[in-house]
Amino acid sequence: MTEVTTEERTELIGLTQDEIREFMVAMGEKPYRARQLYEAIYRRRTTGYDSMTDLPKTLRRLLAERAIVTNTQVHNVFLSSDGTRRFLLRLGDGSEVESVFMPEERRDTICISSQVGCPLACSFCMTGVIGLKRNMTAGEIVSQVVVVLNQVYGQGAGVPHRTNIVMMGMGEPLLNYDQVLKSVRLLADQQGLGIAPRYVTLSTAGIVPRIYDLAREEIRPRLAISLTAPDDELRNRLFPINRRYPVAELIEACRSYPLAERERLTFEYVMLDGVNDSDREARKLVRLLNGIRAKVNLIPHNPAPELPYASSPIGRITAFQQILTEGGLPSFIRRPRGQDISAACGQLAARHQATAQGSGS
Ligand code: SAH
Repeated sequence: MTEVTTEERTELIGLTQDEIREFMVAMGEKPYRARQLYEAIYRRRTTGYDSMTDLPKTLRRLLAERAIVTNTQVHNVFLSSDGTRRFLLRLGDGSEVESVFMPEERRDTICISSQVGCPLACSFCMTGVIGLKRNMTAGEIVSQVVVVLNQVYGQGAGVPHRTNIVMMGMGEPLLNYDQVLKSVRLLADQQGLGIAPRYVTLSTAGIVPRIYDLAREEIRPRLAISLTAPDDELRNRLFPINRRYPVAELIEACRSYPLAERERLTFEYVMLDGVNDSDREARKLVRLLNGIRAKVNLIPHNPAPELPYASSPIGRITAFQQILTEGGLPSFIRRPRGQDISAACGQLAARHQATAQGSGS
């Protein structure tokens, strides 16, 4: 059990190189010490001062009095039979969020949260059921990557291959725009974690004005749109936010979104049995995305007892895909990961049990 205490020391994770320098200079230290501290935190993923042996002992003692590297603690880890690990993390104020680690042969993917809970209340997603508690800070967002990599590979240890980041955990990242973008820049820094923005994908339910803002950013992640319905009638029922930003406006923002060479916009389409999975919707989707350099991820719905949906059967998903293929729209059927530990898309609700049934079976 971790204790919840009110932490008054500065949290260092989340500070930029400049901010760390200011912090160190304010303590009367030389700027090169700031560089050492920065690299200890982000490049070597050191979370305690004892291992920062390139810093003098007196400085480490002083730092320990005034600052903590991160308040994020691993509260529990659930391991799936497919190798996926769900991390239940506790933040400095006792809030709980989740991150999911998905190993693959040539890369790992870490799915991270951007808010504690989520305000959007999409009818097919568990996170919406718990509502929004608060936004996460850039430091808290980045800390998930540091803490998860440390748990998996050991503190400071090199990682064997590429790390992809998907901002598809709890929360709507574009409703926490500034902190999310700051975290993307921190992840990208070559002096630090060095995870390039092209390996970071941000998924949004469609906060249209922020998509235009994102288009103007110099350093920006790849973009994925949780579409899941090809028209307003259906999308209004699944995504309350669609009433504010309807499909036509969302697609217009996507059309004007600048793409790098060979980059595609990803559209996520959660397959809901008997709801959005007919041939008719597939044809509508093809027409809707016509002219956009797009790919579609078909995601079998991950169930939870609280959610009134079931996944489309695999035969229906492949029939749906066939129509997209004939329409010239590339698509992929996603394999659900970590379903047995409530770690799959839309199942993140800071559960303390391995499964939604709560029996831990
Ligand atoms: N708020 C953001 C990111 C979180 S959701 C967004 O909406 O995109 C991440 C992805 O999980 C989205 O594509 C969403 O449509 C999908 N998702 C949500 N609930 C799901 C469920 N129960 N089963 C499968 N996918 C789900």
